[in-house]
Amino acid sequence: MMTKLDEKLEPTLDAVIRRNAGEPEFHQAVREVLESLGRVIAKNPQYADDALIERICEPERQIIFRVPWVDDQGRVQVNRGFRVQFNSALGPYKGGMRFHPSVNIGIVKFLGFEQTFKNALTGLPIGGGKGGADFNPKGRSDAEVMRFCQSFMTEMARHIGVYTDVPAGDIGVGAREIGFLFGQYKRLTNRYEAGALTGKGLLYGGLRARTEATGYGATYFVQRMLQTRGRDFEGMHCVVSGSGNVAIYTIEKILSFGGAVVACSDSSGYVVDENGIDLALLKEIKEVRRQRISEYANLRGKGARFITGGSIWDVPCDVAMPSATQNELSGKDAVTLIKNGVIAVGEGANMPSTPEAIDAFQSADILFAPSKAANAGGVATSALEMQQNASRDSWSFEKTETRLAQIMHNIHDHCAETAEEYGVPGDYVMGANIAGFIRVAEAMHAFGVI
Ligand code: GLU
Repeated sequence: MMTKLDEKLEPTLDAVIRRNAGEPEFHQAVREVLESLGRVIAKNPQYADDALIERICEPERQIIFRVPWVDDQGRVQVNRGFRVQFNSALGPYKGGMRFHPSVNIGIVKFLGFEQTFKNALTGLPIGGGKGGADFNPKGRSDAEVMRFCQSFMTEMARHIGVYTDVPAGDIGVGAREIGFLFGQYKRLTNRYEAGALTGKGLLYGGLRARTEATGYGATYFVQRMLQTRGRDFEGMHCVVSGSGNVAIYTIEKILSFGGAVVACSDSSGYVVDENGIDLALLKEIKEVRRQRISEYANLRGKGARFITGGSIWDVPCDVAMPSATQNELSGKDAVTLIKNGVIAVGEGANMPSTPEAIDAFQSADILFAPSKAANAGGVATSALEMQQNASRDSWSFEKTETRLAQIMHNIHDHCAETAEEYGVPGDYVMGANIAGFIRVAEAMHAFGVI
């Protein structure tokens, strides 16, 4: 791939790669942001002063800890827990926790780095952080998940708090896990500090529409992006990868906008449903029964097929919304989608498209919404949950959804205007990276060297 990195920033990237050896996802995330900054420092050279960019690439604090717990057979298990407190220039660290066997410090660092700019784009007072553990919740009983969460929080509690760091969910961490984590936090601190975690259940400080927010937000963003070309979701055939929280509520919003969703997936394979995905059935299988996606095809019957091997991106569609995990959409997948006539791609997961895929979409003039802009609705709504908790209030679903729609439209317009201002109209990757960077950089500049 031809490098797009300004030569002034090469030593910065080299230092990041040297200092964070063996962390390819983090290198990938940093490279993409640095590639966007050449135009920024040409216009505003002060941002390259005082090692500002180098400081932004170095997390403020990285915490790694042992998580011992006892399984249902009475055996002691040991996992590794992480919290990377990346940047607190704009507010307390904010970002989810991921429980998945693939979690390591490089993954958490890439997610924390992305989160910093994403959170800046929301315009709300939140810094960036991310955490998690290499724990696999699949196949574990509720009691095992509870014991794991309690042990995890026993260490995490000393590092978080409403003015310090506010974790939430991500892959493998939903309402059940947040309940166990919040219960343990409350017990350890002897304080009902609801705003110290977000994504909580509605009975104990959670916000209506937080569950839906990431998927709804991504769909609002893509809707706005389609409108720039005089299109909308009405009648569009869509493919949404994944079948977790982000995918399910992306599908729900696409359907409400008049689109059809023809395929979704999980880590075991994908289903194609000629009649359009039956959302109630999908929710039942994934949210209630916690079963594999193959079960969807079994129960749905005629018109639905489960496919293992191959790629969900082989399914022809007008709009693709990768909503599973990082690097799930390769350069080859992008070429297939383009050949099949895709007109827009919106990233619901964090960094789901490889750099080669993004290049392919942009060279073909496909509308492309990068994750740090398109999926910011989840964390933005977490910041609204913090507001609700601070005011000891209880917001309606409509109030939150109206704010969410507004925020997503603002993020869209801000990215589009920034891209235009920096001479790359229609490039939402550059627009998001530059707009997010400038907010963080301005605040850090004001603080002096810290
Ligand atoms: N994990 C989500 C994200 O990637 C949400 C984080 C939050 O709500 O703090 O943005």
